[in-house]
Amino acid sequence: MQDANLARPALLGIDLGTTNSLIAVWQDGQAKLIPNALGDALTPSVVSLDEDDSILVGKAARARLTTHPERTVAAFKRFMGSDKQFELGGRHFSPEELSALVIGSLKQDAEAWLGHAVHEAVISVPAYFSDEQRKRTLFAAELAGLKVSRLINEPTAAAMAYGLHEQKFERTLIFDLGGGTFDVTVLEYALPLIEVHASTGDNFLGGEDFTAALLQACLKDWQLTPQMIDGQSLGSLVDALEQLKCKLGEGTQHLSWNGAGDLREWSLDEAAALKIWEPLLARLRAPIEQALRDARLKPRDLDSLVMVGGATRMPAVQQMVATLFGRLPYRHLDPDTIVALGAAAQAACKARDNAIEELILTDVCPYTLGISTNRGEDVSGAFSPIIERNTVIPTSRVQRFQTTHPQQSLIRIAIYQGERPWVRDNIFIDAFDVTLTPSEQSQALDVRFSYDINGLLEVDVTLLASGERHSHSIDRSPTGLDAQSRQSSHERLSALKIHPRDALPNRTLLARLERAWTQSLGDEREQIASWLDAFTAVLGGQQSVEIAGHRSQLNKALDELRL
Ligand code: AMP
Repeated sequence: MQDANLARPALLGIDLGTTNSLIAVWQDGQAKLIPNALGDALTPSVVSLDEDDSILVGKAARARLTTHPERTVAAFKRFMGSDKQFELGGRHFSPEELSALVIGSLKQDAEAWLGHAVHEAVISVPAYFSDEQRKRTLFAAELAGLKVSRLINEPTAAAMAYGLHEQKFERTLIFDLGGGTFDVTVLEYALPLIEVHASTGDNFLGGEDFTAALLQACLKDWQLTPQMIDGQSLGSLVDALEQLKCKLGEGTQHLSWNGAGDLREWSLDEAAALKIWEPLLARLRAPIEQALRDARLKPRDLDSLVMVGGATRMPAVQQMVATLFGRLPYRHLDPDTIVALGAAAQAACKARDNAIEELILTDVCPYTLGISTNRGEDVSGAFSPIIERNTVIPTSRVQRFQTTHPQQSLIRIAIYQGERPWVRDNIFIDAFDVTLTPSEQSQALDVRFSYDINGLLEVDVTLLASGERHSHSIDRSPTGLDAQSRQSSHERLSALKIHPRDALPNRTLLARLERAWTQSLGDEREQIASWLDAFTAVLGGQQSVEIAGHRSQLNKALDELRL
């Protein structure tokens, strides 16, 4: 008889993060994290091109940010939806191609763990991701050979995971600060119903900005600019500051850095960090206030506060939230893994898995969607909302408009998203033309927007006089990317050599030793050089048991040196 798990597709959830990515599966009535080749749940969202031109993803790639910055890239999710290209050792990659490599690596881990091929997953995206960013995420999955059964907003995924663990919450604010994005979601649990009331955020604010602010402050103290420092030294400084940031909760931190021709020292305590981060902490407040206002709630109306995302580990952030709400946030679940677990739970919900059938989730469209119209006779470029932000989805809304001039023979429907009164200040999504038969009077038309559960939009225009209907499904392929460039992405990615998964633990240790060598000096550096030589020799022997033993010893020794 066929195994029940093989008979149906695996119920997978992917958290594609700016800093780290995870994959989880719904199995035996619960969400479980799938470990990568190194046994870790978190795979750094970092891609590097190895010297033999093969692609490395994850921890080994992250170690190479310091040693090979010109062949390595991190935090590319921040540019999803833009035309930015990243150069790795002479090859060019778009943010969605790099994301595809990360998704591909997670897919391989899932296949190795489950023992069969996987084809489909729920993928989480920041709630505040635009239409374009969502479409590019779908394209990244397509490039990696995965069908997306649903895109779920990250805080909503976290809410699902909390809903399964905690039955006692009612009105909850989810504060989700990841590496590159910030989302605030206000929702209500009336189990089995989880109802999202409002979602707001900032797509350009995350833990990476707090590290960047430290870099700026430290360079200023040393009277240096990034242009005065070579890529490798700058990479090692960012790495050291990232570590310093993560340890700040333990007390004053000291850093020594050998670069730009000198050995330099820098110290930072929590009070000084608060000063450096003041503008960033202030930016966290506006989305919180807006989410509460849209949900028509005051801070005191909330029953609980939930922190999600690695950057909520920062004491400065926790303090700011505690002061704003006059209470401590709830943090019983791991903020790093909860989104992936919630995404797997959503996959189970979608597949109507028995164990979860009861949970019903309603989500919202986090931004206003509308079209460009004329205000009065001659003022063009006004933004006319059709679906207002925080409308429950799926939704379909219609608005009636009039042509400006009686003899008009063409109408351009230009679609935008945003919260500003003029379209020039909002985000352009798409445009199309509708032809009219000129008439003596101005004509009426109904414009209908239908926004689906994945956060994707369709537009219908009906001309009232003739009843003629024009359906425009917004191009599901990324705008700006024609069929040819999509095909070329497919071809380029499938031509890439991917580093073999089973060789990753050794490759990762080598990359870690190289980084440790770069970061250390004197006796410590000599010690690391001897480890590097010894491990290379053991690898040459090709004895897998001996290699594994040596690897574990060296990883432990590096942990002790905090390198
Ligand atoms: P995520 O995208 O949720 O994985 O969050 C990653 C961000 O969390 C990065 O900017 C990390 O620097 C930050 N982060 C992770 N752990 C800590 C910590 N202990 N203290 C401060 N920031 C952290």
